[in-house]
Amino acid sequence: MNIMTPRESAGTSEAPQVGDHLALDLLNTEARNHGQTVDYWATDEDVRQWLVRQGVVTGHARGEVPTDLLLRGRELRAAVREAISTRKAGGPVAVDGLNHYLQAYPTSPLLRRDDAGGLLLTRVGRGDGAASLLGPVAEAAARLLVEADFALVRQCEHPDCILWFYDRTKSHKRRWCSMAQCGNRHKAAQFRKRSHAV
Ligand SMILES: [Zn+2]
Repeated sequence: MNIMTPRESAGTSEAPQVGDHLALDLLNTEARNHGQTVDYWATDEDVRQWLVRQGVVTGHARGEVPTDLLLRGRELRAAVREAISTRKAGGPVAVDGLNHYLQAYPTSPLLRRDDAGGLLLTRVGRGDGAASLLGPVAEAAARLLVEADFALVRQCEHPDCILWFYDRTKSHKRRWCSMAQCGNRHKAAQFRKRSHAV
């Protein structure tokens, strides 16, 4: 399969954040453009920046970027894609790939004071390797698999799009990754069809 980097394709270089769920936005770091797969992750730094944008890693964490972050990130992404696709299709989900990441993510409870002077009990990761950085993403995926209503976990209906989203709309009728992208592409195609039919 021919895989382009986003810089070669016409799109932006930032992965679309349309999933409304961390685990689905993980899958959305791979997209499709004119029939070709686009991988928004080409370097360890790409993965780190994505984690920062998702709020998983704070921007202040300026430590060394683990040199296996891309490799491990792609491996986790493949495991999550397999698990979510299987769960969506109603099949038995293989848990080993994800468990590998969950088990490599040691956390401990931490009390924090919030801005209003109240107290929060949070959990923080205790490592800084690739597995620890990716741990919260693996946990989000595990929670999605266990807790989500999979009728609302869907892929964009456009045939040239592979993006996933969690439909949190009131009517539960969301069809597109984004109206601006695939919704409008669909409308334009319908319009062309109608005008040809006349
Ligand atoms: Zn789409």
